[in-house]
Amino acid sequence: MPDLQTVVDEIHRELSPRFGEGRVADYIPQLARVRPDRFGIAVQTVDGGVHLAGDADVSFSIQSISKVFTLTIALGKLGDAIWKRVGREPSGTAFNSIVQLEREAGIPRNPFINAGALAITDLLLAGHPPKAAIGEILRFVRYLADDEDIVIDHEVARSEAATGYRNAALANFMRSFDRLNHPVEHVLGVYFHQCAIAMSCRQLARAGLYLAAGGSNPLTGHRVVSRQRARRINALMLTCGHYDGSGDFAYHVGLPGKSGVGGGILAIAPGNASIAVWSPGLNDVGNSALGTVALEMLAARTGWSVFGA
Ligand code: GLU
Repeated sequence: MPDLQTVVDEIHRELSPRFGEGRVADYIPQLARVRPDRFGIAVQTVDGGVHLAGDADVSFSIQSISKVFTLTIALGKLGDAIWKRVGREPSGTAFNSIVQLEREAGIPRNPFINAGALAITDLLLAGHPPKAAIGEILRFVRYLADDEDIVIDHEVARSEAATGYRNAALANFMRSFDRLNHPVEHVLGVYFHQCAIAMSCRQLARAGLYLAAGGSNPLTGHRVVSRQRARRINALMLTCGHYDGSGDFAYHVGLPGKSGVGGGILAIAPGNASIAVWSPGLNDVGNSALGTVALEMLAARTGWSVFGA
């Protein structure tokens, strides 16, 4: 196994001529303002090592990576009852697709596409006004990362609320099948705020550590979820974490991962490390183009693919 800092530095250096590749998401106006040539990587190992390169300490919008954290909270509160509301199968459609919802009577295919995440957010609203649900999600992420400085970028949340017609359509569609328990505006409000959480690669890699270390955070000693639950969340990330590009991500990278349209990816090397990469340019299916390449290089050089070294 080569020295990890050397690997991370090499990936940063080798990719630097390509910084800016891909297309920055612009359907959320505030995201379109991000500099496309940003690139950061953080590798947080289960034994406490941290290896950083590039813009690893610059905050970005975690967007759909938040779906991993809301799923974890919902499982903690309701356990397997959540699977009555959302499936566990890859969608084979875009992140914001509505077609499958009609076929399957308002039950989204998995918790990581937008419709599925809205269903999970609806569950988190039980017994809470929206503000309290947002507070709970933010507190959980701070607890995971052991960092009280993590905040929500309210400009991003407002920007998405102003333009989130597709998500509003998904939520209304599910509500028409009686699949949401709370007002559509509440569900959307919480969802837009969870997506607008801003974190750096360093913070995100720390937050994901519980998934790499069998459910507990070895840095704080906190048990977050059981071993079995960590394994299962990883399985969902592997099969569903990159929308319609999940198969390709498994093929090239071989790690559970969750992407966001802000250009971040959280990847988990079980037993070894939690990894966060950020490069805002996206590929055709809405996942970070260079972030995926960086993870492919990392997995190849460390032998961390879950399918064998
Ligand atoms: N907030 C974004 C949306 O709902 C998240 C999508 C993503 O990160 O893939 O459209």
